[in-house]
Amino acid sequence: MPKNEGVKIPYGIIVHMSTIIAVDIGGTQMRAAAYTQDKIKPLKQKKIPTLASEPGGLERLISVIEDVYPKDGSVAAIGLGSPGPLDPHTGYLLAPPNNPEWHNFPLAPRVAEHFGVQTFLDNDANLAGLAEYRFGAGKGHHHLLYITVSTGIGAGVIADDRLLQGYHGLAAELGHVIIDPNGPPCSCGFSGHLEAFSSGPAIVRYVLSQLDAGVTSVLKRDDSLNARVVAEAAQKGDALAIQAYQRAGEYLGIGVASFLHAFDPSIVVFGGGVSQVGSLLFDSFHASLKQRVFHPRYLEGLVITRAELGDDAGLLGARALAEMKADL
Ligand SMILES: [Zn+2]
Repeated sequence: MPKNEGVKIPYGIIVHMSTIIAVDIGGTQMRAAAYTQDKIKPLKQKKIPTLASEPGGLERLISVIEDVYPKDGSVAAIGLGSPGPLDPHTGYLLAPPNNPEWHNFPLAPRVAEHFGVQTFLDNDANLAGLAEYRFGAGKGHHHLLYITVSTGIGAGVIADDRLLQGYHGLAAELGHVIIDPNGPPCSCGFSGHLEAFSSGPAIVRYVLSQLDAGVTSVLKRDDSLNARVVAEAAQKGDALAIQAYQRAGEYLGIGVASFLHAFDPSIVVFGGGVSQVGSLLFDSFHASLKQRVFHPRYLEGLVITRAELGDDAGLLGARALAEMKADL
C-alpha cells in the first residue's frame, strides 16, 4: 500500500486528509462514493446494477469501489451497507434475500483483503439511523430512534451516542418485535410482528381482508393495489382506506411506545415510503403513542420527525460507520 502523503497547504503545513469509501448495496443498485472527512458531498461516486441473483457479485462490488478509489494512498477505511441479516462484528453476510451466492459470505473480510484497508459492514436500517444521527434530522441528538416504514419495517438505534449493534450484531430489529402473538403473518415467517401490522403490505392485506368481508370501498382486489393506491383513496375520502392507515398508525404507536420504554430517545426519525403519507398515518400514531407510554416524561421534549437524507442515507451511514469504527 502506498502511504498517505497528505495534502500540502500553504506555509508548509501538511494535513493528513483521509478518504473514506462508502458503499450502499441495495436491492437494485450498488452505489459507491469516496468522501473526505470535512465534506458531506462525495469527491466521486458511481452506481451499477446489483444483479443480486446473478453470479459475480463480489467482482461487481470490487469494480464499483475501484471506480471511486483514489490512487493517492489516502483511503483510511471502507464502510459497507447491505440488507441483513448480517454480522457486523465479523463482516459476514448471513442470508441476504435473493442472493444464494452470498449466504454466510465474508463480505467485509474479502473487500479488506483486496484493498488492504480496514472494512466494516452493517445493515441498511442501522446505517440510515447512523446517517440521520451524524448528518441529518438527528444532528445534535445523543439518543436517536430511526424507523423506516415501507415494504418492511427496519430500525436503527443510537443509544448514548453509540450505534446499538448487540452481541450477535442483530439488535434493533424493531420490525420484528411482537405486538400480538396471534396477529397476522410477518414476512419473516413468524406472526404478529409490528411489520405485519404497519408496513405497506400489511396495510394492503388489511384492505383485502375487509373487502373479502364485504366492506364497500373504491378499492378493488387487483394486482395494482398497493399502499400508495390505498393512500390515494384515503386522500379522496374512502372510509376503508382511511381506516387501514389509521389502524397501521395505531399499531405503530403501540410499537414505538415500547421502544421509548426500551431506549428513551430524544428524537424518533421516520424514513420509508409509507411514512411519507403524513397525518393519514401519524394522527392515529400520535394518539396511540400518547395513550400507551407508561409515564408522560418519555414524551417531554421528544422530537418526532421525518428523515432528511433520502437516498443518500445508505452511503452516508456506511461512511459514518467507517469513520466511527476506524476511529477517524
Ligand atoms: Zn417478523
